[in-house]
Amino acid sequence: MIAVLKQGTDEKQMQNLIDWFKDQGLDVHVSRGEYSTILGLIGDTAKIDIDLLQGLDIIESVKRITEPYKNANRKFHPDDTVVRVTPDVQFGGGHFQFIAGPCSVESREQVQNIAAEVKKAGAGVLRGGAFKPRTSPYDFQGLKEEGIHILEEAKKKTGMPIITEIMNANHLPMFENVDIIQVGARNMQNFELLKELGKIRKPILLKRGLAATIKELLMSAEYIMAGGNDQIILCERGIRTYETVTRNTLDLSAVPVLHELTHLPVVVDPSHALGIARMVKPMALAAAAAGADGLMIEVHNDPQKALCDGAQSLTPAQFADLAQGVRAVLDAVKR
Ligand code: PEP
Ligand code: MN
Repeated sequence: MIAVLKQGTDEKQMQNLIDWFKDQGLDVHVSRGEYSTILGLIGDTAKIDIDLLQGLDIIESVKRITEPYKNANRKFHPDDTVVRVTPDVQFGGGHFQFIAGPCSVESREQVQNIAAEVKKAGAGVLRGGAFKPRTSPYDFQGLKEEGIHILEEAKKKTGMPIITEIMNANHLPMFENVDIIQVGARNMQNFELLKELGKIRKPILLKRGLAATIKELLMSAEYIMAGGNDQIILCERGIRTYETVTRNTLDLSAVPVLHELTHLPVVVDPSHALGIARMVKPMALAAAAAGADGLMIEVHNDPQKALCDGAQSLTPAQFADLAQGVRAVLDAVKR
């Protein structure tokens, strides 16, 4: 349920109402917009008498929210959420960012080389997998903690914030200096992991599961937000369909749909969606035109020798060309 307050309601009256809701066992989420303040009520609102509420002096309107995701719902928070990674690197609310780097951290030289290149081309965040979720247990599983240290060194050298994937909540202490924690597609519904990430105050990039609906993605975001962490970036990375020519099917419609349903920023990862390097740029351009708040692109200095996902990795020069094209699209659509 949401209660929209009348303009000019003073803090004391609002606080009295919040206390009253809390006495009824409800959680209250306050969203202060430019024109109105909205109280979002979470919990069992069945016992709240809507007519009584509507009759209060300070109430403009009351509405029941039927969707099971509350915190993530745009009705609770009409303004875009801006995820602030650093003062210069933000996602959402008109801020667009490139996240770029290798699929996996392979060596110090590899990461430093790629970091310098993608930074030059305009990337705001450096990516690299240290813990890799691989389909086969015999494939390269990542450099693990050493991989995170290599990313930290590249961060020190370039000043770029870093993102890397977590697969186990017990590993959280290793992520102390990681700026954005990635939850991969395979863990989108690892609810115990999501609950732990709700307890921390660090941006989370939540990837859509291989066969997850948009509403399931929002429910996973809700798990994190229910714990109090509202710094979440959603990521469309392709879903599994009957099509086999591409690795997955990029569901670009998720971008405008999510923007309508939620206030959280949405980035697109065309690398894992397509799985084919030459097809990454056209879909990156399309994602920018569709309203994405950022792009995640895999870049490798020597894609043919990559230990993971070489076929979809761009060279630094190809990434620079993609970034230039995306900026032209953003300009053309006046974003
Ligand atoms: C990744 O970004 O490295 C990754 C494993 O992606 P996804 O979880 O989308 O498959
Ligand atoms: Mn990858």
